[in-house]
Parts: sequence; C-alpha cells; structure tokens
Amino acid sequence: MAQEDVFKKIVSHCKEYGFVFPSSEIYDGLAAVYDYGQMGVELKNNIKRYWWDSMTLLHENIVGIDSAIFMHPTIWKASGHVDAFNDPLIDNRDSKKRYRADVLIEDCIAKMDEKIDKEVEKARKRFGEQFDEAMFRATNPRVQEHIAKRDALHARYAKAMNDMDLDELRQIIIDNEIVCPISGTKNWTDVRQFNLMFSTEMGSTADGAMKVYLRPETAQGIFVNFLNVQKTGRMRIPFGIAQIGKAFRNEIVARQFIFRMREFEQMEMQFFVRPGEELQWFAKWKEIRLRWHKALGLGDEKYRFHDHEKLAHYANAATDIEFEMPFGFKEVEGIHSRTNFDLGNHEKYSGKKIQYFDPELKESYTPYVIETSIGVDRMFLSVMAAAYAEENLDGGETRVVLRLPAALAPVKAAVLPLVRKDGLPEKAEEIIRMLRYDYRCQYDEKDSIGKRYRRQDAIGTPYCITVDHQTLEDNTVTLRDRDSMEQTRVAIADLKSLIGEKVSFSKLLQKIAED
Ligand code: ATP
Repeated sequence: MAQEDVFKKIVSHCKEYGFVFPSSEIYDGLAAVYDYGQMGVELKNNIKRYWWDSMTLLHENIVGIDSAIFMHPTIWKASGHVDAFNDPLIDNRDSKKRYRADVLIEDCIAKMDEKIDKEVEKARKRFGEQFDEAMFRATNPRVQEHIAKRDALHARYAKAMNDMDLDELRQIIIDNEIVCPISGTKNWTDVRQFNLMFSTEMGSTADGAMKVYLRPETAQGIFVNFLNVQKTGRMRIPFGIAQIGKAFRNEIVARQFIFRMREFEQMEMQFFVRPGEELQWFAKWKEIRLRWHKALGLGDEKYRFHDHEKLAHYANAATDIEFEMPFGFKEVEGIHSRTNFDLGNHEKYSGKKIQYFDPELKESYTPYVIETSIGVDRMFLSVMAAAYAEENLDGGETRVVLRLPAALAPVKAAVLPLVRKDGLPEKAEEIIRMLRYDYRCQYDEKDSIGKRYRRQDAIGTPYCITVDHQTLEDNTVTLRDRDSMEQTRVAIADLKSLIGEKVSFSKLLQKIAED
C-alpha cells in the first residue's frame, strides 16, 4: 500500500474509533485544531504518564511544575519570541495558496537528495556486490555535479535564513524555478515575516487592556520559575524541571493532521548545568531520550538523529529525534543546548538576579541549560503510525489491529460473555469489578465473538477475556492475546497478574534503564 494511503487510513481510523476528531466538526471544523476522543484521551494520558514518570521517578534531581498559559508579555520579549519567532511566508498569486518560503526551498533540496540517491541505487544494481558507494559518490561526474548544485543551494539558503534576508529567499525560489504545487506557476509574491504567536487582551477596558500572548512553548514557564523551584526545593545543580502543557502557534501551513497543529501539547524538561559542562549533558540527554523512545518497541530502525546546521539564536548544539512517519522521517522531539540565554535574558529584562551559588565551586553563575522538548501530539501520531496494521488471516478474513505498546493502550482488557444468558453476563461483570481498580476494562456482549475481537483489535486492547459455560463450572476463562491471537485457558484468580505482566508501566520504565 502506498504510504500516502496508509496515512489516510490512519486518519480515518482515528476518527472512526474515537481517537481524534476534527475540532468544531459540526461547524465544518477549525483548521489545524483537533479534539481527542474517548480512546484518544486515554492513549494521550498514557503517553504523558510514561514521559512524566520517566523524568520524575527515574531521576531524583528532576521535579515537575505546571505553570500558567498566560504570562507577563515581557517574558516573550526576553525570550526573543516577539522579535524572532517568525516564519518567512510567500503566496502564489494564481492558486492564492500560502507557503513557508523555507519549506519550499527545503523540499527542493530534498528532491535533489533524492535524485542523487536514485543515481546511487541505479549504480548499485549495475555493479552488484563490488559496488563501493563512497567511491561512486566521490568520483561519478553526474553525481558530483548534482552534489555540487545541492551544496551550493544549501549554503545559499542557510546564509539567507541566518541573515533573514527575505529578498534573497524569494530570489532562491525564482532561480531554482520552484513552482506552486497547486497552480504549477512561478507567480510568487514577496516574502514576508509572520510572527507565530497568538495574542489576546487581558483586562476589562480596551484602554487599560494589556496585550498578552498564548505561550508558543512551555519552556519559558520553567525559566521564570527557576529560582522558585531551586530555592523551595533546595535543588542542587545539575537538576531539571519538567512540565507538560498546551502551546499555541499560528502555523502558516498547517497540514498533516496532528503533526502540525495550532494548539498542541508539549512535554518539556529544562536541565540546569554548570557552564562548560553543557555539551557533555547534551550528549547524555540525547542518549537517554532515544532510549525512552526505543523502549516502546515501535522499531529501532524508525528513529534517527538529525543534527542542526542552522542553530537557533540561543543554542550552541541542537538535534532532532526524527521518527519514520508515513510521510517520511519527521521531527518528534528537539534536544537543545540553550546556553545561559534564557536565564540571562530574564535577569536583564526583569532586573532580578537569577543566579545559582554553587557550594562546591563556591561561586555564583548563570546556569546553562539542556532542553528536551517533545510534542505529545506528534508522539501520539508516531505511536499510531507504528501500531496500525492490516492483516490477512487464515480463511480469507482480514483484520485491522493497533499493535500499541500494551502499557499505552487505552483499554487493557475486554471482558466478553460468550452468550447473553445463562449467567455469563453476570460472571463477566464480576470479573470487571475485580479488575477495574487496576486496569481500564470494557464490557461487550453485542455481536458474534469474532466481531467483538475485531473491535478490540481496532482500538489496540492487549487482552480479551471470554467467559463461557465452563467458566461457571471451574472459574477459568479464555485469555486472547491481541498480537498472536492465541487463546489460553487461565484461572480467573490469575488474570490480574497475567495482565499486569504485560501492561505494566514499571516494566516499561525499567526497560529504559536496561536497554
Ligand atoms: P517544526 O520545525 O516542525 O516546526 P520546531 O522545531 O519549531 O518544529 P520546537 O520549537 O523544537 O519545534 O518544539 C518542540 C516540539 O514541539 C517539536 O519537536 C514537536 O514535537 C512539537 N511541536 C512544535 N510545533 C508543533 C505543532 N505546530 N504541532 C504539533 N507539535 C508541535
């Protein structure tokens, strides 16, 4: 199946089974805003719990906070967002569609890379086993020509972005004959800066109202609470502050479902370290975060690091953890070495001393910061994309199954009476009453048992428990495994521990440490 079709199927599956709905759907929706349904909210909460526990339980020196979405507007001056949180946008006059100029150019570079890769693949087929890729790339004239062209474009683009030279960005688009994917024309407007922050007014009268922003990242809530937490928690460097919360960005091009939203949720952790030690910590956090992802078992080959060439104004090292989505490798998490930029600027703008006295060094300094920042929604999408599978079964049947990591599954067990009589429903209810303190269970008595299994497969329920007539005699049930579809006869008394073995959060957390 083409990857594009897979993506479409995931989107409609999310809607059909109560994971994600378009926002305000009865009013025809609101672009790039989504609601999580009854299944989605459970999966989302489990993702958040996995992250939160991995930060605050596995690290004694990391604590959490929950700061407000509204903050003093000067915070966004100090952070650089008022002046620099811009995307360069360009319109096509024929299609009236708006694009990010940087994205158009990056797509053009990606196409050049594809061309080079195609040449390499062709040669690999031609030369067979003796093929030396490095040698081919270094010596083949046609490939050399493509590489030179690509590198020249990349260098020109990087310089234009660093200087935020909008005329030059437009010229690059013209010179490379980049056309609008909709109209196919080169009829472009000028490139303009567009600030991504939403603003609103706080206060009752129009005169006295203050312009405030909806936060575009949760990180600043951590920085402005640095002293509060450090002092009241008697925290010693190195230490971290974690936060989960909503963030808002007026994205110009908001496509790809929950990958790029205007209202989304972030899980951010700022780790404060001694100046000069930040790059060691950066390397360490890269490793810890990748282990967190891999412990979910979605497939190690689906992750890669993408180190940044163009660094944000505040960073001295940055990388993305990319995940292989149905539309290619895409950023799920950013890890940044933010230097002392944020704390230093808040000191400047607020006039308050924001320093740490290091009892070992016997000196005060502005701590350096390593940030790990992951979008809950992108994580949700990557879990969904990896879990979604269509399978052909024996006998010509098919099934759609979500192979969710069991700890993240919205429902852990479904309890199904084989028939709706003879006391089987009552027995099933009894089992639910036993399990519900530990696991979210679903009761289902409608339709054939096969149909009921399919419904549970589609929402990723790891176990189905079937109550039949034998249950009434010997207190055993069949336990069906979602992935293998194998059924085993087990004692009701053992259910709790058998399910727990599979869906346990603590086991998942232990895996991070082991891997
Ligand atoms: P991109 O380059 O894709 O716009 P970014 O580099 O601006 O992302 P960061 O500012 O580093 O993103 O934000 C950290 C994380 O927040 C991202 O890795 C992503 O998971 C998430 N995120 C950022 N913007 C959005 C969005 N519009 N919708 C959903 N998640 C987002």
